[in-house]
Amino acid sequence: MVVEMVNPYNVAVTQFDEVAERLGLSQAMRVILRTSKRELTVHFPVLMDDGQVRMFTGYRVQHNNIRGPVKGGLRFTPDVSLDEVRALAMWMTWKCAVVDIPFGGAKGGVICDPAQMSTGELERVSRGYAEEIAVLIGPDSDIPAPDINTNAQVMGWIMDTYSTYRGSAVPAVITGKPLAIGGSKGRVEATGRGVQIVTREALLDLGMRPEQCAVVIQGFGNVGSITARLLSAMGCKIVGVSDIAGGVYNPSGIDIAMAVRYAREHGSLMGLPGTERVSNAELLELPCDVLVPAALESQITHSNAGKIKARLIVEAANGPTTPEADAILHERGITIVPDILANAGGVTVSYFEWVQGLQHFFWREQEINSRLEAIMVQSYQEVREKAREHQVDLRMGAYLLAVARVAEAMDVRGRCPR
Ligand code: NAD
Repeated sequence: MVVEMVNPYNVAVTQFDEVAERLGLSQAMRVILRTSKRELTVHFPVLMDDGQVRMFTGYRVQHNNIRGPVKGGLRFTPDVSLDEVRALAMWMTWKCAVVDIPFGGAKGGVICDPAQMSTGELERVSRGYAEEIAVLIGPDSDIPAPDINTNAQVMGWIMDTYSTYRGSAVPAVITGKPLAIGGSKGRVEATGRGVQIVTREALLDLGMRPEQCAVVIQGFGNVGSITARLLSAMGCKIVGVSDIAGGVYNPSGIDIAMAVRYAREHGSLMGLPGTERVSNAELLELPCDVLVPAALESQITHSNAGKIKARLIVEAANGPTTPEADAILHERGITIVPDILANAGGVTVSYFEWVQGLQHFFWREQEINSRLEAIMVQSYQEVREKAREHQVDLRMGAYLLAVARVAEAMDVRGRCPR
């Protein structure tokens, strides 16, 4: 019987163990890199609009800081757990190493549902959390960013809370901020732009033309909606998109500008004119050439991997495919551009934002996009070459590249007992 590992931390450790074995890492290196360096759990009170005080729980996990300050997003979801944050922090270490930017990995989260909160409550939760993790974050040590259900405004409140605590503005403590307080041009689109660039490169390798490709995208938030817009601009036909409420499908193609407007006005894609409603499970199995999971972890599992029709999967979300599903998809000859490469555009432009904040010198959008393009293309090519050299898939190629870079940094800093 197949026991599916849907705990993302088990998935992350399983992936790491396989790479460690291939790289022949020492036992000491394996135990160090399997484990987070620091894990902080915080509980903090928030005054709700009804006058009641409610306690909230949040986490900040730093996986590894050998290559530089740690970096990773903050998610505000009702079911975020320490194991989820641990997995995401580890993936951030590998992601920063794949694109060779000088950061380690971290992640954070607060158990809450912003959809059920007023703006004032969301601000007080963001500030309460920032006060508690202020002991850990800082421009030289740990720099958060947006993730699920957090945005530029939330980053602005956190930057303000930290800056007040330090006595002066510290823009480089967080990325994904509003432009008015040191945000970077191009950051909002960066993850989707990176997804578009690697999709283009992978299609080229597969001999597929964008204008002949039907694309399905799960998740229509920051990453999913921008990916949809950019892939559509590249000539692809977006036939299915979804949000937490379900999916919408039109085999003749969906007008993405209209879908974005509709989702903004109605709070959901459901009922988008000219589309047929499908469930999120059905969405993943729709006929298409390219599937882009851009929502949550563990969406492609051993139960649906055999039914996926796409030839190419580009993992815009973190950890959307379980190792069991990975093996099935590999067997079926489906190419996967792995998360740690595919969605690295976000952290890359976060890196640019951090550099700009430290220098108090801001770049033009064109400069940001062309530097992002260069890093994504080079990283894609390095991963592909590594995969070809070792005759493995792109995920293993990306991991071999990333874990070796981190292990080398551990070695040369003398941080691994011999
Ligand atoms: P978001 O909050 O902007 O959007 C999330 C989307 O997923 C929404 O459309 C939501 O309705 C949908 N969703 C939530 N639960 C769902 C479910 N059960 N089934 C289907 N859809 C569901 O978040 P985002 O920033 O776009 O992040 C999406 C993914 O991309 C996450 O895995 C995140 O870790 C990853 N990611 C984000 C960034 C970034 O820069 N924002 C960078 C790298 C990776």
